[in-house]
Amino acid sequence: MFGKKLQPNQHLLHYRFSLQNFRLSLIYFLPINKLKASSPRAMWRRSFSTGSHVSSMHMLKEKKWDALVIGGGHNGLTAAAYLARSGLSVAVLERRHIIGGAAVTEELIPGFKFSRCSYLQSLLRPSIIRELELARHGLKLLKRNPSSFTPCLDGRYLLLGPDKELNHSEISKFSKRDADAYPRYESQLERFCKLMDPLLDSPPPETLQGISSLQDRFKNKVHNSAYWTRLLCQAASLGQKDMVDFMDLLLSPASKVLNNWFETDVLKATLATDAVIGSTASVCTPGSGYVLLHHVMGETDGDRGIWSYVYYCWICGMGSVSMAIGNAAKEAGAHIVTSAEVSQLIVEDSGKVNGVLLADGTLVHSSSVLSNATPYKTFMELVPDNVLPDDFSYAIKYSDYSSGTTKINLAVDKLPEFHCCKSIYPGSGPQHTGTIHIGSESMEEINSASQDAVNGLPSRRPVIEMTIPSVLDKTISPPGKHVINLFIQYTPYKPLDGGWDDPAYRESFAQRCFTLIDEYAPEFSSSIIGYDMLTPPDLEREIGLTGGNIFHGAMGLDSLFLMRPVKGWSNYRTPLPGLYLCGSGAHPGGGVMGAPGRNAAQLVLQDFKKKSK
Ligand SMILES: Cc1cc2nc3c(=O)[nH]c(=O)nc-3n(C[C@H](O)[C@H](O)[C@H](O)COP(=O)(O)OP(=O)(O)OC[C@H]3O[C@@H](n4cnc5c(N)ncnc54)[C@H](O)[C@@H]3O)c2cc1C
Repeated sequence: MFGKKLQPNQHLLHYRFSLQNFRLSLIYFLPINKLKASSPRAMWRRSFSTGSHVSSMHMLKEKKWDALVIGGGHNGLTAAAYLARSGLSVAVLERRHIIGGAAVTEELIPGFKFSRCSYLQSLLRPSIIRELELARHGLKLLKRNPSSFTPCLDGRYLLLGPDKELNHSEISKFSKRDADAYPRYESQLERFCKLMDPLLDSPPPETLQGISSLQDRFKNKVHNSAYWTRLLCQAASLGQKDMVDFMDLLLSPASKVLNNWFETDVLKATLATDAVIGSTASVCTPGSGYVLLHHVMGETDGDRGIWSYVYYCWICGMGSVSMAIGNAAKEAGAHIVTSAEVSQLIVEDSGKVNGVLLADGTLVHSSSVLSNATPYKTFMELVPDNVLPDDFSYAIKYSDYSSGTTKINLAVDKLPEFHCCKSIYPGSGPQHTGTIHIGSESMEEINSASQDAVNGLPSRRPVIEMTIPSVLDKTISPPGKHVINLFIQYTPYKPLDGGWDDPAYRESFAQRCFTLIDEYAPEFSSSIIGYDMLTPPDLEREIGLTGGNIFHGAMGLDSLFLMRPVKGWSNYRTPLPGLYLCGSGAHPGGGVMGAPGRNAAQLVLQDFKKKSK
């Protein structure tokens, strides 16, 4: 349907059209004359509003809601589901034409369904899958085995996955010593993850904010003491050696941790990608070890650290996580409205929140508002001026929202053929099922890519994570054709040698990535049918991610737990009574986890009960 090479009438288009008040926004290379041909299947994207948009908006106005959620990202939907299940009347207001935020599926090129931002699931808390009965609501996981493939230019390659024997034989190709050490490394990380689990599933032990009764202060002290005692007991059960290793992992550069474990460059580089994903840090940045842990904390069907593709009836990809959670919320009575952008929070003279003002002028009332938008957007853009304490405003304003991430979603007419394993696995094979690490043959290579960004330039040899979900999920692309995700680092928000709003500059960076992949899979570039590219400014504009940061703010040790989003406000409450955070900018941070949404809902329910006494 589409030409393989760009024709003169093909441009990078940011195309918006209005359809019965629903805005659909597309960015991709496509001949102009093809843009009007929208697939009927694309209509599902706007089908989530209950009834027509007009009646949805009418419902919003007609009563005072127990709670409003700004944003229908997976966390906002999770919070809404828990609140609605507890009997509260809840409305979710999403600015886009589609729910899901960064966990979304969009059919940008007819026949090709892209997990537009996030593309792999593992972090979603098992408690949420269980409690919201997401399997009943349609969520299916497609486990990947093997789960990673790192091709090398010298003709070697490394496959890794849940199969311990495969791991041993693959790593042995490089080092017998590393092959023996690998299961010990994995089981140590597993023990650390177990230690982290309870931390993720509850609000941090924050001190009480604002004026509180003696009884509340006492209860808070008891609660926090019990929390720390439990945590210390758990830490002590690790034993002294593991405890020291745990601290080492949290505080050290990932490069130091991995150098202590292994000698094989390609193995260390493959594992190190987890330590830098979504951040601007290098593998040599102290604290990058924590990011590594964050990315192995998840599981698929009980298998720790295993990432999966997701699937849900005819809505596939990561949007199906949001759809399943949205269905659970809807079943419990939540009212979800798309194309409903909140422009301001309504704050009474008393300083209490009393609802929101939508961009179209609609007022929606509630004395509890949860924001799934980034902390920056919430406090710097939605909260009226001069109602927040200065120290809080400064802390939010100067939080780290830097990003080095670009996502390219591709439609291709054949699978990439990697020359390192062409003779062993011709055509389709295990090399295609997992995450394919390009430009990650050594930690030095990753470090050098990050150094370019430190100097203000997109990496000359970017670090690319390629996934091909259509290998396992045949419903997302036409027969014989494939969907490919490229998660690319490092791309500064404001490059010093050009701008992301310049089509030629964008095209030249995309071609740089494709040419790098060609080094490993020679005919890759010529297989491209079309693509969608989201640089940091695109992620900010399209998805609402401040600075393009994929986690709603950096995940450095200084921005986690009791310090997320800022010190003193880690338990989802904010200096404005009635306003809560429920997105990734709150504890425990980014990724498709649902934990901020679930934890925030707990706090809102506690406060709601107190108010109704
Ligand atoms: C390119 C990319 C790749 C990623 N890959 C992965 C991955 O493979 N696996 C993984 O686990 N995580 C991944 N992540 C991270 C993960 O997707 C995010 O951390 C997570 O989805 C954020 O969820 P959230 O619900 O907190 O916020 P969001 O998904 O950002 O949702 C916030 C919602 O609020 C809406 N909103 C904002 N302002 C307003 C307003 N004023 N009015 C109404 N609505 C508003 C936005 O439109 C958005 O829908 C990736 C992220 C990106 C960007």
